[in-house]
Amino acid sequence: MSGSWGNVFWSMPKSLEQICAALKVNAHFRQPMRRLTSLRIGGEIACVAYPDTPEKAAALVRALRENNVPWSPLGYGTNLLAADGPLERVAISLRALATPVRFDGLRVTVPAGYSLPRLVNQCAERGLSGLEGLAPIPGSVGGAVKMNAGAHGYEIADVIVAVDVVRDGQLVALPREALHFAYRQSPFTTQDLILSTTLQLRSGNAGTSRAEIAEYRRRRAATQPVNANSAGCMFKNPRPDLAAGRIIDELGMKGESIGGATISPVHANFIVTDGKARTADVLALIERIRERVREVHGIELELEVEVWE
Ligand SMILES: Cc1cc2nc3c(=O)[nH]c(=O)nc-3n(C[C@H](O)[C@H](O)[C@H](O)COP(=O)(O)OP(=O)(O)OC[C@H]3O[C@@H](n4cnc5c(N)ncnc54)[C@H](O)[C@@H]3O)c2cc1C
Repeated sequence: MSGSWGNVFWSMPKSLEQICAALKVNAHFRQPMRRLTSLRIGGEIACVAYPDTPEKAAALVRALRENNVPWSPLGYGTNLLAADGPLERVAISLRALATPVRFDGLRVTVPAGYSLPRLVNQCAERGLSGLEGLAPIPGSVGGAVKMNAGAHGYEIADVIVAVDVVRDGQLVALPREALHFAYRQSPFTTQDLILSTTLQLRSGNAGTSRAEIAEYRRRRAATQPVNANSAGCMFKNPRPDLAAGRIIDELGMKGESIGGATISPVHANFIVTDGKARTADVLALIERIRERVREVHGIELELEVEVWE
């Protein structure tokens, strides 16, 4: 590794290459985060590892822990803000997990690396209702469970009955009763790797669900910069009846820019980036928004996106 990387990887008893090779885990080294995130910014990450079985995922977590290597779960990167500098960590992606989606009556068990919009569409086509509002959320199922993703009056937590996770290096099955969710909050830590979830749906009608999904997509296209590089809403709403986007909009901040980062003129809670943007630009714009909101309203806006430094 080049001199700009710190000590973590130099002092490891085993190299990352050795660890991944020994476990037969496919791994890509020194990957640019701009290719792994929807904001299309961020520096190089040391490694992205793609275990293809739950057992390999658990063994990888154990090996990284034993070697003191920092790691994070990576979904589709649609809620991530990655620093500009080198990221000395391993991202574990479950896109290659070969577990199939299993439908069983009104229940579906789905691997974490699966696409949430794809799942929603498949359920709708089978006459399974309960996920329609989540159709426009562009992440993975694992990312949605971690973030308790929600939209249009739906939250994924409302239908979760169980989650399989790697916790402390072990495969653990957690029933819903053991899991406490809140607005954009789940009980999972940054060191829990969600492997799959089982959802309880209702009997519905494919045509009705399809129409509902189309309506949500239409509303999105009219009110959000759906084709720009973004991570969706930057900030959580401070209260259920007070949208962060409305506060920022009323402060007249739409269209303000720092470097290649701009507060979307379409939706004030979205920061969009151009090809020249750096993460530092986005962070500076976030700070500017927070300062103004603090000054004028005395409200401390909390980030909805996850920051990797
Ligand atoms: C255009 C746009 C619109 C959006 N609209 C919405 C919306 O309406 N509602 C909403 O809630 N969100 C929205 N988002 C944000 C984002 O899509 C969701 O938060 C999504 O659930 C993140 O999933 P992901 O796979 O991309 O996760 P990532 O961005 O990859 O990761 C997010 C966090 O989850 C963790 N994580 C990911 N996978 C796992 C796993 N398997 N196990 C444990 N932790 C994991 C990561 O470590 C990270 O901390 C939007 C984003 C965009 C770009």
